[in-house]
Amino acid sequence: MMKTTVKSLEGSRQKLFIDGRFVAPKNGNYIESFDPTTGESWYHLAEADAADVDAAVAAASAAFRNPAWRRMTQTDRGRLVRKLADLVLEHADELAAIETRDNGKLIKEMRAQMRAMPDSYHYFAGMADKLQGETIPVNKLDMLNFNMREPLGVVGMITPWNSPLMLLTGTLAPCLAIGNTVVIKPSEHATASTLALAELITEAGFPAGVVNVVTGTGRSAGEALTRHPGVAKYVFTGSTDTGRRIAANAAANLVPCSMELGGKSPHVVFADVDIEHAVNGVVSGVFAAAGQSCVAGSRCFVEASVYDRFVEALIARTGRVKVGHPMREETDIGPLALSSQLTKVESYVASGVREGARIAAGGKRPQADELARGWYFEPTVMVEAQNDMAFMRDELFGPIVGIMPFSSEEEMITLANDTRYGLASGIWTQNIDRAMRFANRIDAGTVWINTYRSSSFMSANGGFKESGYGRRGGFEVMREFSRLKNIIVDY
Ligand code: NAD
Repeated sequence: MMKTTVKSLEGSRQKLFIDGRFVAPKNGNYIESFDPTTGESWYHLAEADAADVDAAVAAASAAFRNPAWRRMTQTDRGRLVRKLADLVLEHADELAAIETRDNGKLIKEMRAQMRAMPDSYHYFAGMADKLQGETIPVNKLDMLNFNMREPLGVVGMITPWNSPLMLLTGTLAPCLAIGNTVVIKPSEHATASTLALAELITEAGFPAGVVNVVTGTGRSAGEALTRHPGVAKYVFTGSTDTGRRIAANAAANLVPCSMELGGKSPHVVFADVDIEHAVNGVVSGVFAAAGQSCVAGSRCFVEASVYDRFVEALIARTGRVKVGHPMREETDIGPLALSSQLTKVESYVASGVREGARIAAGGKRPQADELARGWYFEPTVMVEAQNDMAFMRDELFGPIVGIMPFSSEEEMITLANDTRYGLASGIWTQNIDRAMRFANRIDAGTVWINTYRSSSFMSANGGFKESGYGRRGGFEVMREFSRLKNIIVDY
């Protein structure tokens, strides 16, 4: 049974999970985790430092060598991952409640995410017995030349606060199925669900040390993990600036990384679409999760002939988006997860206005008394935007969209690609030739045509440019989390 619940977390001190046990940090330090709906601290998490990280990596290294894991059959490893899937499903609603309390995302969205997550575990569990090598010709008789695939060793995973467990699943499940061991450093802003998952990992029957969780800040636990010489690969999901730093740390030990970073994704709307349909797509594409989504379509380019009509419909639709407490079923947008996010969003909206953009909807904190203490911000539409304005260049991670007209396909593709990021993109048109031309020319890892934010763990996803490298999902992860060994036999 999972003992961690929203109730048990309240006012508690959460420990680290190392070598199959919950242990206090060696330095005795704990930091606060805040509830974004009230701005109040609701539990404390352990602030691990280099000594704890060292213990976690040592446990993961020993587990990697432990015959109970290393010599477990592929079928049995797959079975363990499936068992974990079943336990996640059994506890989906509690895990959802924990994440909502921690990061303020909507309970209805978190429930849907947690209930769908076991499918992803099952999919990756199936890879355990499908990791295959190949035989290769050799220019000599009586020799056998073949490539064998094997796990990497200890994988360090550093996760963000916006969807901690869902983002972890896409890498943790295949890593375990392939036979790696793992040290996870969850975000200090949403740690609890990963600790709850650690309980389920024990209950599923994974040997001690196969999965370890070191909590704390990036400055302390994160830096120690990414500088550790005992790690074979880093999997990072988070901001581009942090990714750059982690890649530099990893480079010192020549350790490869998989980087899923930030975005400033374009939405393109052509005149030939049903405007209401496109408006709904743009609204959910940018305002869902209060804009705290790496793929948020935060720059919107609209064909000039329908620009006024589109903006009018977008303002009307934005006015109907309900900002409220994330536990309420009728809420469309909850609070931002961090107070610093709120200040950041406010300052970017203000700088946008100074640079010549105009607030056409939202643009401030909501006035309702019940929302006064939380870190809420209204969904905001900025018109007369330009690509060189700060709020159009930088990732805000808030509910803000900037709108610009375009007059030709050539102009549109230039505007859409005019960003240092390349994570996702969306186009709304009935013209399939035009949609395919866009798909060919856009510099983005994901292209949505007449939809947005639809995703599948069965396809490989990832970014171009400063949105990262490496792919998550699909069969691609088998290459990401294993290595080739070449063997030549003379017989
Ligand atoms: P962040 O970069 O601030 O933190 C992410 C993680 O890195 C946290 O666990 C943090 O403690 C750790 N960290 C911070 N500094 C570190 C350091 N010096 N060394 C090691 N670890 C360190 O990101 P965030 O604010 O938690 O998340 C939001 C960001 O994540 C956004 O930029 C968003 O686009 C990105 N994101 C990307 C994807 C994707 O799939 N591409 C998905 C979700 C979020």
